[in-house]
Amino acid sequence: TIQPVYNFNAGPSALPAAVLEKAQKELINFRGTGMSVMELSHRSKPYEEVHNQVIERLKKLYSIPENYEVLFIQGGASLQFSMVPMNFLQTGKKAGYVMTGVWSEKAFAEAERLGDAYQVASTETDKHNHIPNPNELNYNEDDAYLHITTNNTIYGTQWKDYPDTGNVPLIADMSSDIMSKPIDVSKFALIYAGAQKNLGPSGVTVVIIRKDLLEKANPDNPTILKYATHAKNNSLYHTPPTFGIYMLGEVLGWIEECGGLEAVTQRNEEKAKLIYDVIDNSDGFYRGHAELESRSLMNITFRLADEALEKKFLAEAKDAGFVGLNGHRSVGGCRASAYNAVPVEACKALSEFMIQFQQSNH
Ligand code: PMP
Repeated sequence: TIQPVYNFNAGPSALPAAVLEKAQKELINFRGTGMSVMELSHRSKPYEEVHNQVIERLKKLYSIPENYEVLFIQGGASLQFSMVPMNFLQTGKKAGYVMTGVWSEKAFAEAERLGDAYQVASTETDKHNHIPNPNELNYNEDDAYLHITTNNTIYGTQWKDYPDTGNVPLIADMSSDIMSKPIDVSKFALIYAGAQKNLGPSGVTVVIIRKDLLEKANPDNPTILKYATHAKNNSLYHTPPTFGIYMLGEVLGWIEECGGLEAVTQRNEEKAKLIYDVIDNSDGFYRGHAELESRSLMNITFRLADEALEKKFLAEAKDAGFVGLNGHRSVGGCRASAYNAVPVEACKALSEFMIQFQQSNH
């Protein structure tokens, strides 16, 4: 018998087994076309049906209001770090960034290169172990936008409430918790997320943008770097990553079959609790990095007494079939990423492994 592999990778990460099986079945002859979805013209009817269904599914699952566009762009979330300021950081206005981790820092660095950006708040002195109070953010009322990172993949913190920014457009990097729970899209002017954690394979970036922003964007940008270009062409301005978009649609279909975002959140809460409970009941053997109220349901970060013990834990976990439990190379420690597609059984197995490891090593 083959030992099961429990995939806790931080991204790219686990995909639903049912989706992979369906993709395998459809691979050679996609819905009677006699070829794979990868080989279809992106201007053909069968592909267009896939493309438009993905947009519809996103709109339905997130209850996206009429005055928003859903776009597929390439270049990862990292391109959005530049595209956002290129389009919206016009001269004379500033943009505020809330610094909650490495990815906020990367986003901020690009904004600084391109315009007048400042830090509204930073949790750096606390090793990014919490999220600032959304009601106590000091940004300017006439800022071009306010940028937040809704889930901090490396530190394992997550915003539970979002700030009400009134007339200041709220822009969010949701790469590591998109579609993990219902949200009120109307609070945001722009949401972006690389697909490779909760939504599908890498190569597609989902952008949800309020239509009025399209007109406010800098008209001098290169064509492909204007959101308006992608909006005007239904994300078919140039060849989109068709296979990735197809997979994204299948993952969204799987979310629908699971019972939608309410059911997915409930499952994510159950999964994270299995592991956080072990940490909390370990008498300090496992030490969670994030403060209680800021704990991420997606990335569970923890440390052991010292690096030698962490090394032993990671080595034994690897032998037991757990993949991807090492913390990000910039911070070390341990991290279990329990994105949507990670099954409850994987988290149950990890919690049992952690208890056992503590019993043999305390
Ligand atoms: N933002 C966050 C929150 C992330 O976790 C990541 C990737 N780990 C990125 C941005 C960068 O994404 P990409 O690799 O798609 O550019």
